[in-house]
Amino acid sequence: MAVRHLADNPELLALERLIEQAGSRLCPEVVTRIDCDGETLPVWCMTLGSRRTDVPAIGYFGGVHGVERIGSQVLIAYLGNLVERLSWDVTLHDLLERVRLVFVPIVNPGGFLRGTRANPAGVDLMRHAPVDAEHRVPWPLGGQRLSPRLPWYRGRASEQLQPEAEALFRVVRERLHSHRFSMAIDCHSGFGFRDRIWFPYARSRNPLPHLPEVWTLRALFQRTYPHHDFYLMEPQALSYTTHGDLWDYLYDETLAAGNGNLFLPFTLEMGSWLWMKKNPRQLLDPLGLFNPMLPHRQARVLRRHLTLFDFLQQAALASESWLPRGSASREMCEQAARELWYTQGQT
Ligand SMILES: [Zn+2]
Repeated sequence: MAVRHLADNPELLALERLIEQAGSRLCPEVVTRIDCDGETLPVWCMTLGSRRTDVPAIGYFGGVHGVERIGSQVLIAYLGNLVERLSWDVTLHDLLERVRLVFVPIVNPGGFLRGTRANPAGVDLMRHAPVDAEHRVPWPLGGQRLSPRLPWYRGRASEQLQPEAEALFRVVRERLHSHRFSMAIDCHSGFGFRDRIWFPYARSRNPLPHLPEVWTLRALFQRTYPHHDFYLMEPQALSYTTHGDLWDYLYDETLAAGNGNLFLPFTLEMGSWLWMKKNPRQLLDPLGLFNPMLPHRQARVLRRHLTLFDFLQQAALASESWLPRGSASREMCEQAARELWYTQGQT
């Protein structure tokens, strides 16, 4: 098979090198293949840890948008860290007996090959889920069905899901939703000066039913890591509302299932405007709008989120000790969360 895609896809090359190095320890699996410009590109999924559904599961996703390469780089660096630790870190082995970790670092390899936000069919995967916003969305940013030639194209309503989205849904349903407690973090870049951790909804300015749980998780992180105050955690709709958010859809699906399993999805939106402010020459490069271009800044970003990624595992493992229990406790957290996020001009 031609290897051109590897040369043009440094992140895919790095991931496949890591998979080769780790052997069966990552349980690598191609969950779908994407045809793009004469190439067939794999979407890789790696799974570590316990397969029991009574243990918590955490999913790490990146590369949904082909121009936001730093998200994939951050996850590949983290996977490299885990692979290395597998050879000596007994605490990691203990942890993996009690949690499941799922990685899809490059959801949209065709977008990576072409250097486009959308997939090869011109669809913005993060506007593509079959869910409409409750409010007017900014056009076309919130998602449009007019043309794949314009950005933020949702695809046609009548069409099947794009293969990348179908594979992502399958991975989340089989490997996260099946667990009694699971979380996901999906790494993006390109909005704002701060690193934001968004939670649902993107489709609505109204709170999600698990607002108390999200608020408590935020408080736990802030108490545990008070010097990691560079994150701004908030509902996505505070920044803008959109149609078709994959995580809105997957979150609502667990509510509809009504089986008591809890799934909390987050999006890490790395604030790329800060990198541009510090290095305005980045504006001359299309990828510079979304990625740190200077080596020292890239290295800083690659190590910046390790604590958060580890925290999600520890918090998932110990969820019984911090999840609000009982209606009084949940009500108190709900109140605090509404005051924080849903008071000014929100419904
Ligand atoms: Zn993105």
